[in-house]
Amino acid sequence: MAGEPQDDCLFCKIVAGNIPATIVRETETTIAFRDINPQAPTHVLVIPKAHYRDAAALAAGAPELAADVLRETQAVADEDKLESYRVVFNTGAGAGQTVWHAHAHVVGGRGLHWPPG
Ligand code: 5GP
Ligand code: ZN
Repeated sequence: MAGEPQDDCLFCKIVAGNIPATIVRETETTIAFRDINPQAPTHVLVIPKAHYRDAAALAAGAPELAADVLRETQAVADEDKLESYRVVFNTGAGAGQTVWHAHAHVVGGRGLHWPPG
Protein backbone atom coordinates (compact mmCIF):
# COMPACT_ATOMS: atom_id res chain seq x y z
CA MET A 1 0.00 0.00 0.00
CA ALA A 2 1.20 3.53 -0.71
CA GLY A 3 3.15 4.92 2.22
CA GLU A 4 3.81 1.51 3.83
CA PRO A 5 7.36 0.08 3.94
CA GLN A 6 8.09 -2.49 1.22
CA ASP A 7 10.27 -5.50 2.10
CA ASP A 8 11.92 -5.57 -1.32
CA CYS A 9 12.66 -1.82 -1.53
CA LEU A 10 16.29 -0.69 -1.29
CA PHE A 11 15.45 2.79 0.01
CA CYS A 12 12.98 1.45 2.61
CA LYS A 13 15.94 -0.65 3.83
CA ILE A 14 18.08 2.50 4.08
CA VAL A 15 15.27 4.23 6.01
CA ALA A 16 15.13 1.23 8.38
CA GLY A 17 18.92 1.33 8.84
CA ASN A 18 19.32 -2.16 7.33
CA ILE A 19 21.58 -0.91 4.53
CA PRO A 20 24.26 1.68 5.35
CA ALA A 21 24.21 5.10 3.71
CA THR A 22 26.06 8.38 4.18
CA ILE A 23 23.21 10.41 5.61
CA VAL A 24 23.60 14.17 5.29
CA ARG A 25 20.25 15.30 6.69
CA GLU A 26 17.29 13.73 8.42
CA THR A 27 13.88 15.14 9.37
CA GLU A 28 10.82 13.47 10.85
CA THR A 29 9.56 12.66 7.35
CA THR A 30 12.62 12.60 5.07
CA ILE A 31 16.24 11.53 4.79
CA ALA A 32 18.99 12.78 2.50
CA PHE A 33 22.03 10.63 1.71
CA ARG A 34 24.90 10.63 -0.78
CA ASP A 35 24.39 8.71 -4.01
CA ILE A 36 26.56 5.59 -4.15
CA ASN A 37 27.55 6.46 -7.74
CA PRO A 38 27.90 10.25 -7.70
CA GLN A 39 27.63 12.12 -11.00
CA ALA A 40 28.90 15.42 -9.58
CA PRO A 41 30.76 16.70 -6.48
CA THR A 42 27.37 17.00 -4.78
CA HIS A 43 24.98 14.17 -5.60
CA VAL A 44 22.51 13.64 -2.80
CA LEU A 45 19.22 11.75 -2.83
CA VAL A 46 16.34 13.15 -0.80
CA ILE A 47 13.58 10.64 -0.07
CA PRO A 48 10.38 10.52 1.92
CA LYS A 49 10.64 7.93 4.70
CA ALA A 50 7.27 6.60 3.58
CA HIS A 51 7.24 4.46 0.46
CA TYR A 52 5.78 5.90 -2.75
CA ARG A 53 6.87 4.30 -5.99
CA ASP A 54 7.69 7.53 -7.80
CA ALA A 55 7.32 11.30 -7.71
CA ALA A 56 3.89 11.17 -9.34
CA ALA A 57 2.52 8.80 -6.69
CA LEU A 58 4.10 10.94 -3.97
CA ALA A 59 2.63 14.19 -5.32
CA ALA A 60 -0.81 12.64 -5.75
CA GLY A 61 -0.88 10.64 -2.52
CA ALA A 62 0.93 12.89 -0.07
CA PRO A 63 1.41 16.44 -1.37
CA GLU A 64 2.61 17.78 2.00
CA LEU A 65 5.28 15.09 2.08
CA ALA A 66 6.26 16.02 -1.48
CA ALA A 67 6.70 19.58 -0.22
CA ASP A 68 8.89 18.30 2.65
CA VAL A 69 11.13 16.55 0.12
CA LEU A 70 11.38 19.67 -2.02
CA ARG A 71 12.21 21.82 1.02
CA GLU A 72 14.97 19.39 1.95
CA THR A 73 16.52 19.58 -1.52
CA GLN A 74 17.12 23.25 -0.85
CA ALA A 75 18.50 22.52 2.61
CA VAL A 76 21.02 20.11 1.04
CA ALA A 77 22.04 22.74 -1.52
CA ASP A 78 22.48 25.30 1.27
CA GLU A 79 24.55 22.88 3.32
CA ASP A 80 26.88 22.16 0.39
CA LYS A 81 26.92 25.92 -0.43
CA LEU A 82 25.69 25.39 -3.98
CA GLU A 83 24.84 28.54 -5.89
CA SER A 84 23.49 26.56 -8.83
CA TYR A 85 22.19 23.05 -8.73
CA ARG A 86 19.66 20.73 -10.30
CA VAL A 87 16.82 18.80 -8.68
CA VAL A 88 15.70 15.77 -10.69
CA PHE A 89 12.93 13.23 -10.12
CA ASN A 90 13.44 10.51 -12.72
CA THR A 91 9.91 9.17 -13.10
CA GLY A 92 9.43 5.94 -15.05
CA ALA A 93 11.92 3.52 -16.57
CA GLY A 94 12.12 5.51 -19.82
CA ALA A 95 13.40 8.50 -17.84
CA GLY A 96 16.06 6.45 -16.08
CA GLN A 97 14.27 5.54 -12.84
CA THR A 98 15.84 2.40 -11.39
CA VAL A 99 14.81 2.53 -7.73
CA TRP A 100 11.05 2.45 -7.20
CA HIS A 101 10.89 4.61 -4.08
CA ALA A 102 10.40 8.30 -4.86
CA HIS A 103 13.61 10.28 -4.65
CA ALA A 104 14.94 13.66 -5.67
CA HIS A 105 18.49 13.88 -6.96
CA VAL A 106 20.27 17.06 -5.88
CA VAL A 107 23.21 17.51 -8.27
CA GLY A 108 25.71 20.34 -8.21
CA GLY A 109 29.25 21.49 -7.68
CA ARG A 110 30.12 21.49 -11.37
CA GLY A 111 28.73 23.05 -14.55
CA LEU A 112 25.50 21.41 -15.70
CA HIS A 113 24.34 21.33 -19.30
CA TRP A 114 20.78 21.79 -20.50
CA PRO A 115 18.99 19.99 -22.07
CA PRO A 116 20.32 17.00 -20.12
CA GLY A 117 19.94 14.41 -22.93
P1 5GP B 1 17.21 6.59 -10.33
O1 5GP B 1 18.01 5.98 -11.46
O2 5GP B 1 16.13 5.63 -9.85
O3 5GP B 1 16.67 7.97 -10.62
O4 5GP B 1 18.22 6.82 -9.15
C1 5GP B 1 18.62 5.81 -8.27
C2 5GP B 1 19.92 6.24 -7.69
O5 5GP B 1 20.17 5.45 -6.55
C3 5GP B 1 21.12 6.08 -8.63
O6 5GP B 1 21.74 7.34 -8.84
C4 5GP B 1 22.02 5.10 -7.89
O7 5GP B 1 23.40 5.41 -8.03
C5 5GP B 1 21.56 5.23 -6.45
N1 5GP B 1 21.75 4.04 -5.65
C6 5GP B 1 21.47 2.76 -6.03
N2 5GP B 1 21.74 1.91 -5.02
C7 5GP B 1 22.18 2.68 -3.98
C8 5GP B 1 22.62 2.35 -2.65
O8 5GP B 1 22.64 1.21 -2.21
N3 5GP B 1 23.03 3.39 -1.88
C9 5GP B 1 23.01 4.69 -2.34
N4 5GP B 1 23.44 5.63 -1.49
N5 5GP B 1 22.60 5.02 -3.58
C10 5GP B 1 22.20 4.02 -4.39
ZN1 ZN C 1 10.55 2.06 -0.36
